[in-house]
Formats: sequence, C-alpha cells, structure tokens
Amino acid sequence: MPIRTVVWNEFIHERNNAVVREIYPGGIHGAIAAGLREDDAFDVSTATLDQPEHGLSEARLAETDVLLWWGHKAHKDVSDETVEMVADRVHQGMGLIVLHSGHFSKPFKRLMGTPCSLRWREAGERERLWAVNRSHPIVQGVTPAIELPNAEMYGEPFLVPEPMETVFISWFEGGEVFRSGLTYQRGAGKIFYFRPGHETYPIYHNPQIKRVLKNAVRWAHNPVPAWEDVAEAPNVPVEKAPETIEKRGPALHKPGEEGYR
Ligand code: ZN
Repeated sequence: MPIRTVVWNEFIHERNNAVVREIYPGGIHGAIAAGLREDDAFDVSTATLDQPEHGLSEARLAETDVLLWWGHKAHKDVSDETVEMVADRVHQGMGLIVLHSGHFSKPFKRLMGTPCSLRWREAGERERLWAVNRSHPIVQGVTPAIELPNAEMYGEPFLVPEPMETVFISWFEGGEVFRSGLTYQRGAGKIFYFRPGHETYPIYHNPQIKRVLKNAVRWAHNPVPAWEDVAEAPNVPVEKAPETIEKRGPALHKPGEEGYR
C-alpha cells in the first residue's frame, strides 16, 4: 500500500508575485510534490485553497495518510469546517506536516492550542539548520547542518507546547535561534512542524530539504487503520465485576445512559 500523501497549498504568492512564480512555476505544492515523488512508496497529489472545500473533502481526507500544509497570506480564508475535519483526521491517525508560515495556520493552532507566535525578519540571512537529534528517522541521510545561504529569519520565543522531540535547531546570521523541527502526537496522529520554506527562496528545491520532507512523510505515516471513535467517551457496562465493586456504592449513571460529558 503506498503512503497516500496530499500536499496542500494556499497557492496565492505564485499567482500574484513574479519572483515567487519564477522560483515555483508549478506552485510551491508542485515543487514539494515533485520532491516527494522521488520516493516510489508515496502516492502524491495536491490540493489548493481555491478548490471546492479547499480540495479537502471529508472523503478525500479519509483517504489521506499524510497531509502537508503550506499557507501564509490566507489562513483566515480556510473554513472552520475544514479545520475541524483535518483535526479529526489527525486524532484518528493521519500524519500532518506543517511547513514554515503554517505556524499560524488554523489547523496547526487548533492542534497546538497555543498562540504559535514567533519573531521574524526578511533579510536574506544565512541559516544553519542543525540536526540535533541525530538518531531520529527524519534526519536519516541528512548532513549534520543544512546550510541555507538565504532565508527568512524565524526567532524564539516560539509559542508552541513543549514538543515530543526537537529534531532541528536553526542558527541565523543575525544572531537568533529557532526550534525548526518539532514533533508532536495528537490522538493517534503524528505532527511534524518544519520551519524552512519562505516563498521567495528556492528552499523546496534543496536536495537536503527534500530528503527531510521524504523522511518526515514516512515518519508521520501511521499504518494502522483509522481510530474512528477516538473522540467518543462512551459510558460502558462492567463485563466482569471485580469483587470490590459492591463496596463502592451505586453508580451515578446506568450503563448505556448518557453521561455528563
Ligand atoms: Zn515566510
């Protein structure tokens, strides 16, 4: 079974800005998808904001193993309905890879529950992306430090919950540092936030970055069937009463009765 991977992009900068269009003539999603297609284990498709339901119908999400998310200018235009469907699917086991300015996207903020704010500067600075967790599957085949000659700066503090793992830390020419590769688990779903990817630099053509994204898709893929009722909290009967149960007094709710949740 191939890993069914969808690359989502708001697809606005490439249409409005000649510089971005020159770097990504097929859109940022096109470049990311092309990099992922180097791995035969992936079945890669794309979706964009302007498509019906942003290209992410419930049926399509149900058939998605790993979703990548690139957004910047139009976070507010993503419908809350789509955000909830994405969050539900992550809870059921879909992998989610949030890229660059996606730190402020609705699905990421929904799943983190924190402001997800940071500091930034667009000055074409050098970035050194240190793989600080050398045994992590996401950095396999990656050099200890990825050198990006021109990057937008993102600086700490990054207002996200303490991650499960810190995979990358960036240093910038201007002096700031940033936790650039962070992993989370929400329900049955794995989440990877990866910082590089500003639209005016050819970041997604970089072979090292492409390697990271391929590794990340494999890491985020949960091969077991979706945990469909992950969000339910049923009131269930005792199947075999432990000896102590009678001493504990009557239950407030009978089995099968609606509880207080
Ligand atoms: Zn940016």
